[in-house]
Order: sequence, then C-alpha cells, then structure tokens
Amino acid sequence: MLKKKVLTRVLLSFLITFLPTVSLLYLIFHRVSEEALIKERDILYNDFKALLEHEIMDIELAKAKPIQSKDDYYTSVRVNEKCIGQPHYRITDKGLYYGKKITLSEGCYFVGVNVKELLEFARQLNRAEWLLYYDRTYIDRLPQAFLDNFVKDKLFKDDVVIVGFSNESVLNVPFKVSVYLVYGNYWEKTLLVEFPLFEEGGYQFGKVLFVKDVSPIYANFYTLMGVLVVYSFILSLLSSFLLYKLSEDLVARIIKLQEFSNKIKMGEFSQSELFKASKPKDELDHLRNNLIDAALTIGNLLSELEAKNKQLQELAYYDPLTGIPNRRFFFDHANLIFEEAKRYGKKLSLLIMDIDHFKKINDTYGHDAGDMVLKTFADVLKSVARHSDICARMGGEEFAVLLPNTGLDGARILAERIRSTIANKPVEYDHTIIVVTTSIGVSEFKNGMESIDELIKEADIALYRAKEGGRNRVEVFTPDKT
Ligand code: GH3
Ligand code: MG
Ligand code: MG
Repeated sequence: MLKKKVLTRVLLSFLITFLPTVSLLYLIFHRVSEEALIKERDILYNDFKALLEHEIMDIELAKAKPIQSKDDYYTSVRVNEKCIGQPHYRITDKGLYYGKKITLSEGCYFVGVNVKELLEFARQLNRAEWLLYYDRTYIDRLPQAFLDNFVKDKLFKDDVVIVGFSNESVLNVPFKVSVYLVYGNYWEKTLLVEFPLFEEGGYQFGKVLFVKDVSPIYANFYTLMGVLVVYSFILSLLSSFLLYKLSEDLVARIIKLQEFSNKIKMGEFSQSELFKASKPKDELDHLRNNLIDAALTIGNLLSELEAKNKQLQELAYYDPLTGIPNRRFFFDHANLIFEEAKRYGKKLSLLIMDIDHFKKINDTYGHDAGDMVLKTFADVLKSVARHSDICARMGGEEFAVLLPNTGLDGARILAERIRSTIANKPVEYDHTIIVVTTSIGVSEFKNGMESIDELIKEADIALYRAKEGGRNRVEVFTPDKT
C-alpha cells in the first residue's frame, strides 16, 4: 500500500516538475520568436521607407528634370497643379513612381523614382520578395484610355490588380494583410509585411507586400525548444528516479520494521536480535535498533515476571523453609480429598505430628539449629510418604500427612515409621548432634464426618494423648477415651 502511494507521489512530482517547465519554455520561445518577427518586420518596412526618403532628398537637391535613363528609373511629368505638397505616389504610363512636385523654370513638374526599381533594390538588400497591387475599385476609376493600355499583362485576382512581383511564388500568399502576418505550416513560415501606398490626396490605392521566408527563425526556435524539453525531461526523470529509489529503500525498511512489530505483537521476542542493523547508517536504523532494544528489554522483563509469578505461586502454596506444601495447600487439597472420601466411601486417614520439646532445641542450640531440624523433619516426611500422600507444614513445628485410600492400620504403620526414622536420625549442627523425637496423633475418616476439621480434631486429640503419654510415640484416636 505504502509502495503504491510512493509510486503515485513520484509520478506526480515528475509531472509537477516537467509539465510547467515545458509550458514555461513554450511561452518564452513564443515571445522570443514574436519579437524576432517584429524586428524583421521593422527592418523590411524601415529600409524601404529610408530608400524612398533618400530618393526624395536627391530629387529635392537636384532641382532639375532627371536625365531620361533607359530603364525609366526616374520620370518627370509636367503638371498643371499647385506646385506644393508632400511626396506621394503617382501612376504614369511607365508605371508607379514615388516623387514630389518641384518648380522648375519651365513650370511645375512631378519628379519621381520608379517604385519597382526601388523594390528590386530592397529585395537585394533584405532578401525579401515583393508583390505590388492596386485596389480594383481604384483602377476602375482611371481614364479609359489609360486603362486600356494599363491592363495589358496585369493579373486580376479577387478585388486586386497585381502590377508586379519579384517571384511567382508570392502570388499564392493571402493579400488581406494588415501591418504584418505570418503564415505557413510548422516548418515553412512566411512573413508578410504590408507597405501601404497613398496618392497625393491621401487615398490608399494599393499596397506593397514584402514576403520573407522566416522558417530559419522557427527552425531555431523548434530546435532550441526541443533540446530544452529533452533536457528538462531527462532532469525531471532523473530526479524522480532518485526520489523513487530513496523511497523504495525507506519503504522496504519500514516493511521490515512492520514485520518486526508484528512479531512483538504476537509476543515473539526471541528473534529480535536478528532484526538489528549491525552498522546503523541513519536515523531510521537508529530508531529500529532502539525499538529492538526496547523489545528485548520487554522480553527479558516478561520472562522475569513469569519466573517471579511462579515463585509467588510457590510461596503461596509452599513453605519457604522446608520446601514442602504449606497449610493453605493442605486445606485446598484435603477438602477435595475429604469430599471424595465422603461421597464414594473411600478410606482416608490423617497424621498430625509435633516435634517434642522443640522450644528447648531452639533455646539450647539456637534458632538456626531449630530451622535445620525442621528441614530434616520435612525431608524425612517426603522420603517416607507416598506421592499420593499430602505432606504439609501446618505451622511452627507441627506437620501433617493426609493419606488417601489408607485406613487406620496403614496410617499407624506409616506414623510409626516416621517416628522411628526421626528418632534414629540425629541432626548434626555445628559439630553438635541433636536427637529429635516426635509425637504423632492418627485419625481415620468415619461415616458421619462432615468436614476435614473433624478429622483434624480427632488427630489433634490423639496427638495430645501422645504428648501426655510421654512423647516420642504414636497415638490413634479412639472415641471411648474422649
Ligand atoms: P512440646 O514437646 O510440648 O511440643 O514442647 P515444645 O517446646 O515443642 O512446645 P511449644 O509449642 O511450646 O514450642 C514450639 C516452639 O517452636 C516455639 C517457637 O519458638 C518454635 N518455632 C516455631 N516456628 C519455628 C521456626 O520456624 N523455626 C524455629 N527455629 N523455631 C520455631
Ligand atoms: Mg507445638
Ligand atoms: Mg512441640
């Protein structure tokens, strides 16, 4: 899940870096190419304008009718008009001229320069083809005599009359251009620049269209754009790849941590050490090792707790000095065994033992010696009794043995064996021999007994009699003596 998330984020980051870069590049190049076109337009326009102005200056300076040249580069036409006014275009039978009215000694003359010749000149200067045309409506208004001569070898297209062009290919360009226009497909781009023509009255009767191939500008633009797009693509891809590699490593390590945490959740601490990074290389490794250390500590604490619990349980049921069951253990089990005897009429008997003159042993040899005697006594009980018998320290120097499935005779035999074993096994303490004896009272379960307490009571009575009778002896409870 995390891996999928990381992958989508990386893909997103790739798009976020790459797409805006491409858009920005496109905008920048669009702007740059636009400016290049405007510059080109201005050059075409201004160069031709400068040429015209230069010719007007020459005409003004000459103040004479031009010498008639073969190519009709200059013309002078006598006019019966006011001899003032701005430079303007004038259509004559020799073609279109741009010039000015000047006063000579013979009268007023329009002196002009051949526009087509100038256009040719401009073409060589700027390598731009040209097309010259007049509006048809304007042509229609010209005097018929002039027109008949004029229309010869002229091209009529839509509502314009083409009066000249530098190259036939320019006939295909769209004529409706205002100021400038770029047309063509992606790879072949042509710039069209409009140069309006006005007659003396200010009426625009036609246009010059400069036609220049600007494909190189676009080719440069596309090449540079392509290089930068590829560059930014590789850059974005590389950065995304690095990001992915880093995230992949992190995800793999997080998954490992997750596996580890699952094991901890299941309470498996034993293999924690295996997950540890031997040489932590970053914060994640340190975190992992810290977690593992914490898990190991928890594992140790848990096993310690388990051991302590066991100890506690033993303490609650066992006598810490002698290691045999205590009074609580005795009653918990004795009650059950008693109930069973009562229900199924099974045999059951009990021995209650009390060490003779134990106070004296304590007083004479010390408390530790007394403890030693108690332990020895318990060991004797364990060695003599059966597994199914319940031996317990009932408190102080008083012990009990409950004998399931055993009648009075068996109980008496066991009691006698205990008594004689103790009496014949002096305790050695600190190089001193201590002779220990015990008095034992024996009782047996009889029908009509309600609880274990009655059985204990009868054994106690028998014990009392044993003490009375001189100690180091076994006494069986008999009701008639009560
Ligand atoms: P008797 O023959 O009449 O039973 O005499 P006794 O001295 O054994 O009788 P008593 O019940 O008066 O003495 C029991 C003594 O046992 C008193 C007590 O100080 C001692 N005692 C009880 N528990 C312990 C123990 O855990 N260790 C030691 N060393 N002495 C204990
Ligand atoms: Mg006692
Ligand atoms: Mg005693």
